[in-house]
Amino acid sequence: MTGQPRRLAGDTYVFEASTTNSGYVSGVLIDTGPEPSVYDGHPVMNVLITHGHQDHFSSAPALRLAGARITAPREEVALVENPEVHIRGMFSWARPSDEMVNKLFHGGGVKVDAYADEWRGYGIDPIPLPGHTLGHTGYLTGDGVLFTGDAVYEMPIWSRHRLPYAIDPGLVRSSLSLIEGLDFAWMVPGHGVAVDRDEAFEHIAYHRDQMDLMSERLHEMIAEPLTTEQAIAAMSSLAGLSDNSAQYWLAVTTVKGYLSDLLRQGRAEFFVREHAGWWHAL
Ligand SMILES: [Zn+2]
Repeated sequence: MTGQPRRLAGDTYVFEASTTNSGYVSGVLIDTGPEPSVYDGHPVMNVLITHGHQDHFSSAPALRLAGARITAPREEVALVENPEVHIRGMFSWARPSDEMVNKLFHGGGVKVDAYADEWRGYGIDPIPLPGHTLGHTGYLTGDGVLFTGDAVYEMPIWSRHRLPYAIDPGLVRSSLSLIEGLDFAWMVPGHGVAVDRDEAFEHIAYHRDQMDLMSERLHEMIAEPLTTEQAIAAMSSLAGLSDNSAQYWLAVTTVKGYLSDLLRQGRAEFFVREHAGWWHAL
């Protein structure tokens, strides 16, 4: 299936997909959708990856085989080259069972040829936007189109999923503020639709509000101390997550991110009692 990209501004196009959007500027692809054939008829010399989540570079292995050079943020390279590292991280680096890997591990990695921070050319600037992952990076094209990967979740995403993945909500907030200070006319998130600057600011404000809300609710929940596992269950239930292992493991990371954020703000304490980790609001 060949896709028809939509021209947003100047030489910047977007391949809109229900899964993951990708940008296109003169042979440079920003993130990829799941089907490499979508790009048939549009030569891809370079692929710029926002972060190490497989749904953002599913077509990169095929495109690299066809000659494309792969660029990814330095801190994300291990994840891009070997997505199984994620499973290890989720499981505190202990060896996961084969069953766990089969359930959660989607698809292969791709060899990275260059680091995003060293990228120069085509008028595209890499913009570090950490928080969703450590090295998460957006790309701003010379035409004023900002590809934000998973740094911004648009409003409809929040209504489907009230606890979207983030390793560090504090860093996500800083990245949202950084985006507000950038000179861009269009914003294209990894998931969702391309929006103009005014609309982008509404989505960013909503994102920040939702994170504050989840953080406040978690703070209320630990008024009486909860173990890490109890806090994960309580937040997952509040967010209406499905009771399955994929959602559970993502929530483990995100809730720990929020807990640690409260700790850093001096609004919670952590202690070990009866060999369990507990969190208590201050
Ligand atoms: Zn992601």
